[in-house]
Amino acid sequence: MITVIGSLNMDLVVQMNAFPKQGETILGNSFQTVPGGKGANQAVAAARLGSEVAMVGCLGNDHFGETLHAALQQEQIQTDALVKSTTAPTGIANILIYNNDNRIVVVPGANYDLSISHLEASKDLIQKSHLVMIQLEIPKETTAHAIQLCKEAGVPVLLNPAPAANFDVQWMEDITYLTPNETECAEIFNEPVEQVLEKYPNKLIVTLGSDGSRYFDGSYPIHVPGYMTTAVDTTGAGDTFNGALAYALVEGQSLDEAVYFANIAASLSVEKLGAQGGMPLLGAVYARMA
Ligand code: ATP
Repeated sequence: MITVIGSLNMDLVVQMNAFPKQGETILGNSFQTVPGGKGANQAVAAARLGSEVAMVGCLGNDHFGETLHAALQQEQIQTDALVKSTTAPTGIANILIYNNDNRIVVVPGANYDLSISHLEASKDLIQKSHLVMIQLEIPKETTAHAIQLCKEAGVPVLLNPAPAANFDVQWMEDITYLTPNETECAEIFNEPVEQVLEKYPNKLIVTLGSDGSRYFDGSYPIHVPGYMTTAVDTTGAGDTFNGALAYALVEGQSLDEAVYFANIAASLSVEKLGAQGGMPLLGAVYARMA
């Protein structure tokens, strides 16, 4: 079982023909509300592939919160460990999409009320997990505590360091996998990717957009190329990659197989709109691998 400790947001998605300049008001083409948040997205990505998934997170006591809760249940994700903030609204992400590019503003809201005591209340769940997946859209001390609980219980941790500013390099010792994109990797380690990869063999996996992913296997640098496809909306590519990587690792695949599998799953996700909209079922991933 995979436990995801992380954020849930309602994504407010606007498609447009140009990004507005400072002080400018423009007309968009369409507007949609879709479930998102890196935590929920990664939970959905793993659940779609067939993983048993439980989510630990905090929602607001509002309509968006109810909708997000129901959306997770619809994906067969265990929601018993979701809590409700009494003060903050459900998190939102304002996503502007233009020409295969996106600009995103996240308002964490209730996600920042996920506390150490909430984790303590979910200790049993964490301890019986085969893998815990964490992102950084929750308070830093909650993340630190989650890593500590996993360490004590001997549960592997897959950490996707986004946003990178909330990462603490000291955590490298206690986590099992770190999956930054190139920008996050540069922000966290402040040295060339090749050099950092060698320092963290089989632990640091850097995603490279359409180029795929890289890691160092202890002897050689490994580049797992991306699957060439036409991207419609890359929002959630990283989340699909992480959910799929978690699925594959828990299934017992080697890191090489798991990264390849995750690249293929993520390539399917960019072909459709929305973070969760394009997350594939297991059959679609294997069909593309065949
Ligand atoms: P996002 O923030 O857009 O969700 P990210 O910046 O966290 O993504 P990326 O490195 O852009 O992460 O992408 C993650 C993975 O998704 C890549 O390793 C690759 O496998 C796949 N991917 C991303 N973009 C494309 C693309 N245009 N075509 C095919 N695969 C892609």
